[in-house]
Amino acid sequence: MVKISDYNFKGKKAIVRVDFNVPLDKQTFAVTDETRIVGALPTINKILNDGGCAILMSHLGRPDGQKQEKFSMKHIVSTLEKNLGKKVIFAGDVVGEMVAKKAADLKSGEVLLLENLRFYEEEEGKPYHLGKDATDEAKAAAKPAVKTAQKEFAKTLASYADVYVNDAFGTAHRAHASTALIADYFASDSKMAGFLLEKEIKFLGDTVANPERPFVAIVGGAKVSGKLEVLKSLIEKVDTILIGGGMAYTFLKAQGHNIGNSLVENDLLETANRILADAKAKGVKFLLPVDNLAADKFDNNAAIDVVGIDIPEGRMALDVGPETTKLYAAEIAKAKTVIWNGPMGCFEMPNFAKGTFGVCEAVADSSAISIIGGGDSVAAVNQSGLADKMSHISTGGGASLEFLEGKVLPGVAALTK
Ligand code: AMP
Repeated sequence: MVKISDYNFKGKKAIVRVDFNVPLDKQTFAVTDETRIVGALPTINKILNDGGCAILMSHLGRPDGQKQEKFSMKHIVSTLEKNLGKKVIFAGDVVGEMVAKKAADLKSGEVLLLENLRFYEEEEGKPYHLGKDATDEAKAAAKPAVKTAQKEFAKTLASYADVYVNDAFGTAHRAHASTALIADYFASDSKMAGFLLEKEIKFLGDTVANPERPFVAIVGGAKVSGKLEVLKSLIEKVDTILIGGGMAYTFLKAQGHNIGNSLVENDLLETANRILADAKAKGVKFLLPVDNLAADKFDNNAAIDVVGIDIPEGRMALDVGPETTKLYAAEIAKAKTVIWNGPMGCFEMPNFAKGTFGVCEAVADSSAISIIGGGDSVAAVNQSGLADKMSHISTGGGASLEFLEGKVLPGVAALTK
């Protein structure tokens, strides 16, 4: 793949898939969190500083193929201008003569922002025009035409520019027009990952594939089912897996422990035991909580007891206990590479956040390369104020999970074709 730092954009028009799916104030439509806009600046500035011009495109929210004022990219313009320190030309649409002309007229150093890509169902390639109640048969019948229209849409986007840059990791696991199909219309020396996507590939791809050992994975979150593929994939790669969160209790029940009213997936007990057996066969140390915070209800103000592995009748485990945190911290301290996905407990409730923040501190204190993936663990790291102690915080929840599952991300694959 072409490296963006090696590429000279002088005299080139670059179309850049950014992730400007930012939160907006419901009344004023002002951007309430600029992180994603700030994140895209290195790539945009590289293009402009080289003497190129940038055509930026993104989705915003879920307009499901319909033009809707509240999802318009025009709400982003002033924040983008402030961050770039220059005027941004707003295209007002994604396709059409007016947009094509604005793209054609764009001069070196200028920035054009397209309207929300998902105002067109062609972006996602879904038959939204059939309505919510469409039958599966109707959707299947519409599929060929939708796919053809999606290719046309991608071709139109590609026609605006000389070079394609994808810097939107959060949607790289989707084969959308702007994230994957568009790349077919650029030669292999004219498409590349932006700095953000490049960093994600480096950490979630290269570091995980060739880790410094010991390699420790911390996996938490609500359910085993959500992390099943990740666990299977990690067992092949890591030396140690530390389990926390709601998913731990399915494993503990499978091992014959009492779990009271804790979260459990009874249909996955056998699968849980198979995972444990697999880990053992591969020589992977697979640790489950040795103590827990047992609550009498799902409430921050619940009565809490620190209990051992077994959870008493009528109680639910909502966080790992202090011994578990200590045990996990000791494993993390020995690690050279750490990957963390999913909280250790219901960290949204302060009384059940200690396990998650304890793990967070241990990762921050360790000298290991640390990779944080998934919305909730990223939120916990940000809340803890320890974000700058981590080597890499992934920007894409779903995409980072799929990457760790060993799946090929369409948005990444499209750049290497
Ligand atoms: P996930 O999206 O699968 O990573 O799960 C994150 C969610 O799991 C968070 O909202 C946590 O509150 C929840 N969670 C973590 N530990 C537990 C637990 N012991 N019982 C119930 N929910 C939990």
